[in-house]
Amino acid sequence: MDLGLQDRVALVAAASKGIGFAAARELAREGARVFLCSRDENRASEAAQKIHDETGASVAGIGADVTDDQAAEHFVNLARERAGRIDILVTNAGGPPASRFADAELEAFREAFELNALSAIRLAKSVLPGMQAQKWGRIINITSVSVKQPIDGLLFSNTVRAALTGWAKTVSTEVAIDNVTVNNVAPGYTLTERQDELAAARARTMGKPKEDMIEVWAAQVPMRRLARAEEIAAAVAFLASERASYITGVTLQVDGGWVRSLL
Ligand code: NAD
Repeated sequence: MDLGLQDRVALVAAASKGIGFAAARELAREGARVFLCSRDENRASEAAQKIHDETGASVAGIGADVTDDQAAEHFVNLARERAGRIDILVTNAGGPPASRFADAELEAFREAFELNALSAIRLAKSVLPGMQAQKWGRIINITSVSVKQPIDGLLFSNTVRAALTGWAKTVSTEVAIDNVTVNNVAPGYTLTERQDELAAARARTMGKPKEDMIEVWAAQVPMRRLARAEEIAAAVAFLASERASYITGVTLQVDGGWVRSLL
């Protein structure tokens, strides 16, 4: 299937590693011109270079913290100045810490809202008018399966990603007339560097090897394994593509069957 992504201009946030990096690489493989960001300029540039070396695509790495208004604006403006337009926005950020309600300070809710909801909304606010004017656009938010089945102990993720999902659905209906789609990709357990570190940390507290923790997670998944970041990225690329032109307002879980609900 030709995804029709050749020469499309894509912004991928929080993409120096993990799922963001894999999404940027997948879009580059499909011929898109990619602008990626992460907080550290050097790491963003290294990631961009790595993707360019592998795919031959035009990839730029920009230092921008997506929780910072000005930095996010700089990211969008720079891409727009260099490429002349923006066709695709993939929003992403690091995950919030684990917590239970009794231990959670109000400030931590504010921070989580900044990191995992407002970061996406702010980037969308910058790119949507241009997408609507050119009558073509794709916004894909990286969220989590926690929006379909809340995960015990992930209070902030369960709370603020649900807010982002409500926002995305609402906006998708407002911009659909302009041929702009807004969708979410909800990863299940995915073996990124961060997930590997989380496994190591949890395993230490349980006095067990890291592999045991990964096994515990894998056992919850009908496929009995964690996802590879590339598997999440493939869904992102499809939703970003010409072929997904009539799909909007959905949350597509990519989780090996982990979510048990019908929809
Ligand atoms: P990761 O920690 O491996 O990568 C996160 C990336 O985001 C890094 O490049 C980091 O530099 C960048 N980043 C973090 N905060 C940023 C900020 N404020 N501004 C700009 N860049 C920033 O994480 P991951 O495993 O790839 O996960 C990506 C997202 O998907 C997270 O929100 C995570 O909670 C969510 N998620 C992950 C999994 C999983 O199992 N890995 C499952 C469900 C949801």
